Amino acid sequence: MYFYSTKDKSSRYSLEQAVLMSLPPDNGLFMPESIPALSKEFLADLKNQTPFSIGYEVSKALLGDDIPHDVLKKICSEAFNFPVPVVSLSNNTYVAELFHGPTLAFKDFGARFMARVMAYLNRNNSTPLTILVATSGDTGGAVADGFYGVEGIEVYILYPSGGVSDLQEKQLTTYGKNIHAIEVKGTFDDCQRLVKTAFLNADLAKHYRLSSANSINIARLIPQTVYYFDAVRQVNSNEPVVFVVPSGNFGNLTAGLIARRMGLPIHHFVAATNINDVVPEYLEKGDYFPRPSSATISNAMDVGNPSNFGRMMDLFSNSWADIKHSISGYGFTDEDTKEVMVDVYKKSSYILDPHGAVGIAGWRDYSSEHPGETGIILETAHPAKFLDVVEQTLGRKIEIPEALEKLRSRQKVAGMIAADYEVLKQYLIDQKAGK
Ligand SMILES: *Cc1c(COP(=O)(O)O)cnc(C)c1O
Repeated sequence: MYFYSTKDKSSRYSLEQAVLMSLPPDNGLFMPESIPALSKEFLADLKNQTPFSIGYEVSKALLGDDIPHDVLKKICSEAFNFPVPVVSLSNNTYVAELFHGPTLAFKDFGARFMARVMAYLNRNNSTPLTILVATSGDTGGAVADGFYGVEGIEVYILYPSGGVSDLQEKQLTTYGKNIHAIEVKGTFDDCQRLVKTAFLNADLAKHYRLSSANSINIARLIPQTVYYFDAVRQVNSNEPVVFVVPSGNFGNLTAGLIARRMGLPIHHFVAATNINDVVPEYLEKGDYFPRPSSATISNAMDVGNPSNFGRMMDLFSNSWADIKHSISGYGFTDEDTKEVMVDVYKKSSYILDPHGAVGIAGWRDYSSEHPGETGIILETAHPAKFLDVVEQTLGRKIEIPEALEKLRSRQKVAGMIAADYEVLKQYLIDQKAGK
């Protein structure tokens, strides 16, 4: 498979270039040259598939023969080794729990696959690969877990100071070895900007072979199609379903669009955001105005300039009419989010995290206008990752899974920098010099 840049459809890059460079030099985004439909036999036999077999089929189709099939099979069996339970809240409302991986958020799908693909593509390189990643909370933990101990790869995680929950911070800052955390005095958008600048600036490239693990990396997007197939398999609806996706950088939703292109029967998408509603606003009015993000209780979606917007537009040939036809957008306040958390807990005894609650809010608005449709809401994180907000909102204690509990006593180790590219550059150069 070859990849092009969304800024130049005639450009052509190999899988290795696309994954290890992360961003094309023209500052576009990599897209696969074609999105092949999966075979009719496979789609008809969905009920007998597993996350592993789906992941293998999808990645074989999208990566072509660039990775030997036996290697790809091993990568998929290691990456997709946890379930995606679908829970019914009512006869047409389903919640797909994407948080059963090691760091309890859906980012595990992308990060575990990407880490293994990168390690394979990097296998013959003698210079270490340095991965820079900006996180609004969950990416950092998933990437840390995915890359921990991988030979030849060093990871630097940039996160906004005070912008992530305590447990999320522990997930970023307590690994050690080849995983380094940098606390940035700024917002997630600042972190994202620093990472992008580092890539586009030649001066750091003199010292490092740089790559990124953000959802701008195509190797993170491909594995996120897996749970769309697995959720449709479990719901087994007679009609094509609606997917409701709590969204920030829109990697998750973009993966859903790719799954639909590959033949999965999806009727429509609902993009649910918090008050950082640049995309819902675009869908409604046709004007795209990225702006600085505001902090909310669904912090993994505090994104003012979604990095996958260019990919979504590319999939719709930049047509507002076409994208509007496939995606409805809704934005919600923290008050709306908490109301939904309380209401769903009262009515269904189901504990939502704030991101999933934004999803349910989006589904309620959409389905009141489109009765009779079947919705699958993606619950993107375990509620315990947002312990304080969830406990305060529901007025009860919640159980903390062991994977989080064991982090609580660990000691945070992180560097601290101003939100300034020159400062980051110097920090990284000093690190390399062992200062
Ligand atoms: C990252 C994240 C999101 C947003 O996903 P995007 O792919 O950036 O749109 C939503 N919820 C949680 C819990 C996340 O970690």
